[in-house]
Amino acid sequence: MRFAIVGAGFSGAVVARELAEAGHLADVFDTRDHVAGNCHTARHETGVMVHTYGPHIFHTQHEHVWQYINRFGEMMPYRHKVKAISQDTMYSLPVNLKTINQFFDQDFDAQQAEAFIQSKADTTITNPVSFEDQGLRFVGRELYDAFFAGYTAKQWGVDPKELPASILARLPVRFNDDDSYFNHPYQAIPKDGYTPIVAAILNHPSIKVHLSTRFDPSSHSAFGEFDHVVWTGPIDAFFNFEFGRLGYRTLDFVPEISDGDYQGHPVVNYCDVDVPYTRITEHKHFAPWEDHARTIVYREFSRLCGETDTPYYPIRLVKEKEQLLNYVQRARSAKGVTFIGRLGTYRYLDMDVTIHEALLASKAMLECLAKQQPMPSFSVDPMV
Ligand code: FAD
Ligand code: UDP
Repeated sequence: MRFAIVGAGFSGAVVARELAEAGHLADVFDTRDHVAGNCHTARHETGVMVHTYGPHIFHTQHEHVWQYINRFGEMMPYRHKVKAISQDTMYSLPVNLKTINQFFDQDFDAQQAEAFIQSKADTTITNPVSFEDQGLRFVGRELYDAFFAGYTAKQWGVDPKELPASILARLPVRFNDDDSYFNHPYQAIPKDGYTPIVAAILNHPSIKVHLSTRFDPSSHSAFGEFDHVVWTGPIDAFFNFEFGRLGYRTLDFVPEISDGDYQGHPVVNYCDVDVPYTRITEHKHFAPWEDHARTIVYREFSRLCGETDTPYYPIRLVKEKEQLLNYVQRARSAKGVTFIGRLGTYRYLDMDVTIHEALLASKAMLECLAKQQPMPSFSVDPMV
């Protein structure tokens, strides 16, 4: 069979590879002039490897995903640490023993810190629904206001009361000195960046990559050449925004180049609402195995995504979930197309999850082909 794969990010590349290895042909399209989607990295004139669309740290608990990515490039051990500035003081995030002791000017051990934070937590919130509920329930008012309320208002552009608890549930709270940002057992950054890894996944004789090429789903000629389409672009774009545009946040990165070291850390978050940016990323610290005399930082500003902007974070509030349901129902009745990935399912997915889900989708498609059944519209339910 001949497949059109729309999008050359991790989702599209992994599906293309799986289908090609099973004996099919895959034409991969991307509007951008490079592969790797939002994970794209490029060497800057300073010599620093820059994460073009924002900081990307690979982390996973899936052994099979870890094995998969290691087939295509060298992964370097990397433990991500984040600093956060609140009211001109620098702390470490996620909230851990050091943060608690520094913030409350105490010298607690783990047990004392846990008991103290429990005394601050709002235990009347038994089932946190909103972002604010989650914060007040797990860290209490002072820490919530210092680290989460302002940053989140800037990042998402809405009152944290309107956001789901799941966004904050991404971050752990610890009562020990572990200040690693992620809990996952496998954490790494590719030695040569993400783009060569995705290029290696796509490097197969049955895969043809068409860069700087938009695939127009309404063009019958484009469809006619292919037996099936795998769509990793925005689901609403596939249906020509029939039920309105799904809301996204986009980011503006303002670069600054200087000599030496700018902030000594890969990422510093700015939690106060009166600082207009959310964080500053210093790219060279993602590659501590490299040495560079100069440095480049990105100041990151978040705003609502316009029609010509890059969609970064799906907003998924009540209104968007209702729109999404319309698109999902429409997709389930459409023939010859499978939707996957961050934009195709309108979900806040990390890289490892996109790889995992792309492997699942490929398996499901190949099983359907073997049984001569129609291929699925989704391999996971985007509404969950
Ligand atoms: P994408 O990478 O978005 O790829 C989709 C591609 O489809 C795009 O290249 C687009 O150009 C193309 N496309 C769309 N429509 C068309 C069309 N009509 N024709 C042709 N091409 C089209 N994950 C982590 O694991 N760790 C992190 O630290 C991390 N940090 C992140 C930081 C930021 C700022 C953001 C926004 C995301 C972060 N992520 C992180 C998530 C990560 O970027 C995604 O998981 C990953 O990019 C999803 O891959 P994808 O292939 O599904 O989508
Ligand atoms: N967050 C916050 N303050 C911080 C860091 C994160 O309020 O200093 C909130 C914010 O709403 C963010 C969410 O926690 O969207 C998840 O954080 P994460 O670092 O996972 O966000 P990402 O790196 O994906 O932007």
